[in-house]
Amino acid sequence: MTTLVENFPGWPDGIQGPELIENIKKQAARFGASFQTAHLSAAELGARPIRLATSAGEILTRTLIVASGASARWLGLPSEQALIGHGVSSCATCDGFFFRGREIAVVGGGDSAMEEALFLTRFASKVTLLHRREGFRASKIMLERAIAHPKIELRPNTVVEEVLGVDEREVKGLRLKDVKTGELCELAVSGLFLGIGHEPNAKMFAGQMDLDADGYIKTSGNVLTTLNGVVVPGVFACGDVQDRRYRQAITAAGSGCMAALEAEKFLEAQGR
Ligand code: NAP
Repeated sequence: MTTLVENFPGWPDGIQGPELIENIKKQAARFGASFQTAHLSAAELGARPIRLATSAGEILTRTLIVASGASARWLGLPSEQALIGHGVSSCATCDGFFFRGREIAVVGGGDSAMEEALFLTRFASKVTLLHRREGFRASKIMLERAIAHPKIELRPNTVVEEVLGVDEREVKGLRLKDVKTGELCELAVSGLFLGIGHEPNAKMFAGQMDLDADGYIKTSGNVLTTLNGVVVPGVFACGDVQDRRYRQAITAAGSGCMAALEAEKFLEAQGR
């Protein structure tokens, strides 16, 4: 879903997200990878071979690398969805640069929202932080930094009712509601950043590998999966589905390489 990627090494002028993915696919195909698009509904990781129930039928495999990522949470407003990539973003690191000298808003009350708001002050002339209730979930230090920043204005008890600019195909402002008084108002901004967390795409593995309290896959030795602390043979996890900290294309690609090397070692030990 990303447009311009500026921080993937090897692309001095940046590269469009879909083009980067297409290049990576072509490179893998040159070494014999084949591709199939399907939705995974269930997996039997303890079975030999491992059994995967997918929308394209059952797949049997000796080894599995889970790289299903984490999906950004969205508000779910039709106007927000229509303007993703046109001023609405869930990634300050990726898109902040495009808002130099502009006024923008960030939604959320946790550490991600604080971090995004603070990061965006490098580019934006003003950042309004909108949070749906009075109390903030963010750590004290992050909240204090946001409060102290001269470019950040905190607006608690405020929800976004609509993102304005759908017809113009770019964000023109937000219709906001004060949840205490019910009062509506408009805020003129060029960008809306969502900082309301991520959902790791690992629900289909619940009960078959260890997940943390937020549903991220717990890995040991970088990319090995476990069940009750014991390694699940042949099943590896890499990228954002097991990493809540770095979440960058290059760190995900690096852990993907680790998983591939481990899968290869595993197959070698099995006598292929
Ligand atoms: P989080 O702590 O779950 O916070 C999500 C925030 O978004 C909450 O304030 C929540 O509001 C709000 N929210 C959720 N759904 C919403 C909706 N539909 N509409 C409006 N607001 C909504 O997630 P996070 O901030 O991504 O943090 C996740 C974990 O990573 C935390 O443990 C955090 O400390 C850690 N983290 C740390 C750092 C750092 O230390 N630098 C940076 C980023 C993340 P409510 O409060 O009302 O539920």
